[in-house]
Amino acid sequence: GDFPIETDTLVIGAGPGGYVAAIRAAQLGQKVTIVEKGTLGGVCLNVGCIPSKALISAGHRFENAKHSEDMGITAENVKVDFTKVQEWKGSVVNKLTSGVEGLLKGNKVEIVRGEAYFVDGESIKVMDENSSQTYKFKNAIIATGSRPIELPAFKYSDRVIHSTGALALKDVPKKLVVIGGGYIGTELGTAYANFGTEVTIIEALDDILMGFEKQMSSLVKRNLKKKGNVDIHTKAMAKSVEETENGVKVTFEVKGEEQTVEADYVLVTVGRRPNTDELGLEQVGVEMSDRGVIKIDKQCRTSVSNIFAIGDIVEGPPLAHKASYEGKIAAEVIAGETSEIDYLGIPAVVFSEPELATVGYTEAQAKEEGLEVTAAKFPFAANGRALSLNETDGFMKLITTKEDGIVIGAQIAGANASDMISELGLAIESGMTAEDIAMTIHAHPTLGEITMEAAEVALGSPIHII
Ligand code: FAD
Repeated sequence: GDFPIETDTLVIGAGPGGYVAAIRAAQLGQKVTIVEKGTLGGVCLNVGCIPSKALISAGHRFENAKHSEDMGITAENVKVDFTKVQEWKGSVVNKLTSGVEGLLKGNKVEIVRGEAYFVDGESIKVMDENSSQTYKFKNAIIATGSRPIELPAFKYSDRVIHSTGALALKDVPKKLVVIGGGYIGTELGTAYANFGTEVTIIEALDDILMGFEKQMSSLVKRNLKKKGNVDIHTKAMAKSVEETENGVKVTFEVKGEEQTVEADYVLVTVGRRPNTDELGLEQVGVEMSDRGVIKIDKQCRTSVSNIFAIGDIVEGPPLAHKASYEGKIAAEVIAGETSEIDYLGIPAVVFSEPELATVGYTEAQAKEEGLEVTAAKFPFAANGRALSLNETDGFMKLITTKEDGIVIGAQIAGANASDMISELGLAIESGMTAEDIAMTIHAHPTLGEITMEAAEVALGSPIHII
């Protein structure tokens, strides 16, 4: 056997959950070791949030360059060099992942490369190609993330791809079938549609982006249809795929009728499963659900008191900022602080057209819980900045309690919704009222004024709508 190396806090996985937890634990005086079998930054930085947003913004620029006729701008011969797009995307990812390495080192976190599994409740073994090393820890934080679900009828191959493959295509495909109209499918479908791909989205549920209110997702759907090269089939079941000489033939069923569509690739985005099956968790006694989701308490503690779990492997929305938030909590608890999770202020964003964002309660959720609320709506079309950006599509909806006007939720569909939602998160976290927002002077002309005006609607006295 090898001589175990001792550490205080051992973190498994260096995604947005793990690396943030490691840094915070180090800041709080712990000796920290982080183990990563792949690339620092995890899914988010390497094959998730960041590269997808890079492709989306490149597609957006291309589309805007071609179509700004409304503003008196016409351009000819606008071209995409997709190899360059991919290089640029890669350079963004590299900057961030090397940044994470620098941050970990700067905080004196020991980085160990290899695959970790639990030996017992106090030690793990890390395997790399030709060696293994045991680490003994006082506390461990599991942050091993998730991977795409594979449908039995759609085994992954060169042509049947998941999000990672879709982010790494060498050329813009002529045709792309997307199975699953969740946020990942919708975002990637939109990006490629903007590059000129004919996109067919096949969604089993009643609608795409089912996590959002219909009045929000319908704006996205309308814009996708307006593009002219996107086909959306809802209540449609993807059945099978046949690989042809240089593409795929996908069969799906709508209203009892079978249809087929040919494409270069089929992208399957039907959800992700937690990476908890190869960690030796059973022998340590860490409790999991049938789906492999690790059970934690409000302090991110598993059923084993010195082992914590965060990010995509625990309940809740599988989002990077949730993983990081939990990472900080776990690190603080290990360092003896009394931190606890409160999920109400966690936003969710789709980088669609227009962007969708939500935080806290929706009107329907509040009513389900028996809360008496006011839902105040303000349209982007009544905001000067939105008009001058030529981005008038969308609205904000502010949810406040009827009795005392406390902000408990907000939904935004519109340009820059992803940035605007932060102010509402802050309002919820700090227990602000609609009046607090309305009394805050927002710069003119900005999209932020939409938030101020929605608050005035909630108070019954908006200036810019009747
Ligand atoms: P991960 O980021 O999955 O990191 C886990 C790490 O653990 C990996 O690096 C893995 O190699 C490592 N690991 C696993 N097992 C072991 C082991 N046994 N030993 C050592 N290391 C191990 N979220 C957002 O908030 N916003 C977005 O815009 C967004 N866009 C996305 C787009 C796409 C295409 C995808 C796929 C995801 C997107 N997400 C987005 C989700 C986001 O990427 C995840 O929620 C986030 O990465 C989860 O963080 P994590 O730390 O839990 O795990």
